[in-house]
Amino acid sequence: MASRPDYYKTLGVDKKASAEDIKKAYRKLARKYHPDRNPDDKGAEARFKEISQAHDVLGDPEKRKQYDSGSGPFATGAGPGGGFGGFGNFDFDASSMGDILSNLFGGGGRSGARQRPRSERGSDLEAQVSITFDQAISGAQVPLSVPMHSSCPTCHGTGAKPGTQPTVCPRCEGRGIETQGQGMFSISQPCSRCGGSGTIIEDPCPTCQGSGAVRTVKKLRVNIPAGVRDGSRIRLAGKGEPGRRGGPPGDLYLITHVTPSPVFKRKGDNLEVEVPITIPEALRGGEVQVPTLEGAKTLRVKPGTKHGTVQRLRGEGPPKLASGSSRQRGDLHYRFVIDVPEKLTKDQEAAVETLAATMNGDPRSRLFATSGARGQGARDGGS
Ligand SMILES: [Zn+2]
Ligand SMILES: [Zn+2]
Repeated sequence: MASRPDYYKTLGVDKKASAEDIKKAYRKLARKYHPDRNPDDKGAEARFKEISQAHDVLGDPEKRKQYDSGSGPFATGAGPGGGFGGFGNFDFDASSMGDILSNLFGGGGRSGARQRPRSERGSDLEAQVSITFDQAISGAQVPLSVPMHSSCPTCHGTGAKPGTQPTVCPRCEGRGIETQGQGMFSISQPCSRCGGSGTIIEDPCPTCQGSGAVRTVKKLRVNIPAGVRDGSRIRLAGKGEPGRRGGPPGDLYLITHVTPSPVFKRKGDNLEVEVPITIPEALRGGEVQVPTLEGAKTLRVKPGTKHGTVQRLRGEGPPKLASGSSRQRGDLHYRFVIDVPEKLTKDQEAAVETLAATMNGDPRSRLFATSGARGQGARDGGS
């Protein structure tokens, strides 16, 4: 089996790191090692892949729990869903091939002949998309450049020079594996000559040097659904890397980064707005103008409104992502906060003086009403 990678080390975070810390560490590293920034740097590409895998696991509370408990299929290159973020998945790697083969053929000593290379699903990709708050609420179509591998246009993915064909590997006779020893103690390994593909290329294609794939940057226009949040992960089926040898394409996952609004704060499915009100408005009530997602509205502040009182406009919040075409929406929450001036003018001071003279009860008396002798004593001492 493959050794278990240390995802915490990969992201450079502590085992007790919060979800927010993990997200931060991932973003920083992903930006640094992104293939866009490091063209033709194999080291950075491998690192980017590791980082994406680590985040795929640690960024998901369920998977992280499983990983922390030491269970779950978290071996390099064989993560759930077939390996994530796989900018490197295209390259045949003898050691990971060994793992796959030992799983397929290990133990029982079954001999499976590989007559022809199997078709392979394209790798899943992950891309980061930055959008404004308004775009997140109403949805948007945004341009995106995604680096990916695609079938080499010169050899159409075979890896062989045009006019030539890959030939059956003479060492393994096309099976892709070599068997050493006999009977119960035989060991199957990927073929050392062809690396497990079962074929060899005598005249490599000059464009792709025999790999059958070239790195390209695919330009897409992607639809961001209305109602996404900061950190939402959107799956675009079939928009990942193309498959190999007739396999289906992988998926593209978009991670959305939403510029926060200075007015509307996300609270789950709802948005919250802080609405300052004056002391007279809190005391006497009144009508205040508040922003909604579709312009201003008037809210009635009840006389005697307390600091922090919330009024809701149901169904006028952001669209719920999961609701699809039914277009359900969250709520808008307006939290009234009493605006207290830091300094008073002479006139205000006089007015407060008058107010204090009439509102001179002790609102704290009920704190002590039921708390027994000690409370009683404290109140008596204080008055
Ligand atoms: Zn080629
Ligand atoms: Zn071979």
